[in-house]
Amino acid sequence: MAIPFVPRIDDAPYAVAEPMTPLIQRVIAQNPSKFSYHGTGTYIVGTQNVVVIDPGPTLNSHRDALAAALKGRKVVGIVVTHCHSDHSPLTAWLHEETQAPRFAIGPHQVYEGFVEEDDHDLSEDDPSEKKDEDEERETIDLAFAPDNPVRDGETIISTNEFTLTAVATPGHTSNHLAIAMDVDRALFTGDHVMGWSTTVVSPPDGDMRAYIDSMHKVIGRHDSILWPTHGGPVTDPDTFLAAYLAHRLEREQQIIHQIAQGNSTIPGIVKVLYASVDKKLHRPARRSVWSHLRKLVDDGVVVTVDGAAPRLLGEYALA
Ligand SMILES: [Zn+2]
Repeated sequence: MAIPFVPRIDDAPYAVAEPMTPLIQRVIAQNPSKFSYHGTGTYIVGTQNVVVIDPGPTLNSHRDALAAALKGRKVVGIVVTHCHSDHSPLTAWLHEETQAPRFAIGPHQVYEGFVEEDDHDLSEDDPSEKKDEDEERETIDLAFAPDNPVRDGETIISTNEFTLTAVATPGHTSNHLAIAMDVDRALFTGDHVMGWSTTVVSPPDGDMRAYIDSMHKVIGRHDSILWPTHGGPVTDPDTFLAAYLAHRLEREQQIIHQIAQGNSTIPGIVKVLYASVDKKLHRPARRSVWSHLRKLVDDGVVVTVDGAAPRLLGEYALA
């Protein structure tokens, strides 16, 4: 099923606070990439006493734009959806400037003893895939920690204009937080739902089962509008989210089908299922297929041929 992605915002201006609604302004950072689309959208919520959602990447032009937009106003809170480097790093600067409390589920989880398998040499026959892999990988801001950890369902902050509530949405990362606003029945979705693309779910911190559970949770909320970090607002969430989830489940079926056909490795599966996708995205695609397989092994639908834990470069068969 095709996902009804919202109108593109490629031409939205950088480093300017654009009014989106009477209560919401968006400042887009000039960090376009294959992961961040046109760039990171930082939201400023409120008119006088404001909350900043995801201050964004360390980028002077973005910092200066936020400083200009916030001049004469009081920042009463900073909320971070997760700790990828395009979302949280400027929190340190903004907290220093304003002393505003920092809200998030928690710091990024660290996986002691996790050994990353090297799939670089798979790219060697295709220089275009290898060229800018560093830029492609979502890096992690391990320095970030909230002074106010929040839990699912808790009120994050209330002003005389709006109330923000925590909606824990693990999957993209284990500490991912979406933020509900009572006014407009809006949900700031971070990277859980994006306005232009599906979300990367990359093990070990990314978890497909958690992601799908979080999708069901968001679908059940029936919000009126979604504000993703990357891409424009989703104005028909029910239809959009149904297609967004269906796409994942369809992918899962395609992976099962490939394994049934004897296509038993992740690189082999990606070559077939992502044949029409830019090769530069094949490395993240392999991680995405891996996250599906971890779930399918856990479900008892698929097994690893060597009987060990599901690996990026392992071999798979139907159970
Ligand atoms: Zn992210």
